[in-house]
Amino acid sequence: MDEKVLHWITVLMGAMTIVVCVCLYFFPDVHAKAVLAAEQQMKEEYTGDNAALVSVSASDVVEQDKGLDAQLEIGLPQSLSEEQIQIENDYVTQTVYIRFAHGVADYFEDYRIRGSSDHIAALSYYKDGEEGVIALSLDQVYELQSKYETGNLYLDFIDPHDIYDKVVVIDAGHGSRAPGAVKNGVSEKSIDLAIVLELKKLFDESDDNIGVYYTRTSDTNPTFDQRVQLANKSHADLFISVHNNSSASGNFTKTSGTQVMYSESDKSELSSKRFAKICLDNVVEKFGSRSIGLLEGDSIYIIRTSEVPVALIEVGFMTNYEELDKLKDPEYQAKAAEGIYQAIMEAFEEGY
Ligand SMILES: [Zn+2]
Repeated sequence: MDEKVLHWITVLMGAMTIVVCVCLYFFPDVHAKAVLAAEQQMKEEYTGDNAALVSVSASDVVEQDKGLDAQLEIGLPQSLSEEQIQIENDYVTQTVYIRFAHGVADYFEDYRIRGSSDHIAALSYYKDGEEGVIALSLDQVYELQSKYETGNLYLDFIDPHDIYDKVVVIDAGHGSRAPGAVKNGVSEKSIDLAIVLELKKLFDESDDNIGVYYTRTSDTNPTFDQRVQLANKSHADLFISVHNNSSASGNFTKTSGTQVMYSESDKSELSSKRFAKICLDNVVEKFGSRSIGLLEGDSIYIIRTSEVPVALIEVGFMTNYEELDKLKDPEYQAKAAEGIYQAIMEAFEEGY
């Protein structure tokens, strides 16, 4: 071969090596970009569940009566027994659904609601088959206290912090039609959820008075705004999002390890960054995994808009054969959960 050609091949190879090195440098950023792209897509797709509802202003409908024992007295058909009324508190959307048998056509015409409209952003009624459904949109996350006496349902809305010593929101990444990375037939959404469900077991068994709200405990896909608002509107002490990482190309590589993203704009003393470090240290210790370190995360919507200390944990790399095998293993998932649980406890000891 001509010497000139050989020379240029050498130069080209050198240039390509530099390009690959630069790409590798930005490796950890790649999953962040993927999350961002998914966010934008979801935002465009989301139209909202309550689009079909006809809402009325609570202050128009609720007859102000501060003399009641409960905050709200909701009139219902006299014939209803307690078993014919179901109350569902959907924390993720801060909506309370009151379903009752023998729904009427126009509830607001036939029945009255008395008490205080404070904390109620909007009120709606619709028929679902034979059932009537009253939907109350609340201004934040509340726990409910309810009592039924013939023809009247009494409700009180209680701030979680009045019940629990601490409040935590835990988010399993992705879900439903947004699987995250899919490697060797395993999707990120199921690993994220499996780890969160192990974490839930630990909290359910714990004697500590900690209120924990989950953005999802099954294969659902709340919007990014719903995920972060669950943290903001419960004024959570900590917000943790559980994810797993992938290489830039999506191809299997040697890169493995744990990484935690934080909000760099949070300059408070008990900051997102400090909490992220606690998470990283604890998960790495439980795992013996490689620490890739902390990563600025304000490019991610749920990190940027969180009003509470947030950490997004990338537990491991799904694009590393060895680590993917581990991540699929229920024992390893339980260990990840233990690491995160330990981190939360340590953060509380530090005053979060
Ligand atoms: Zn993810």
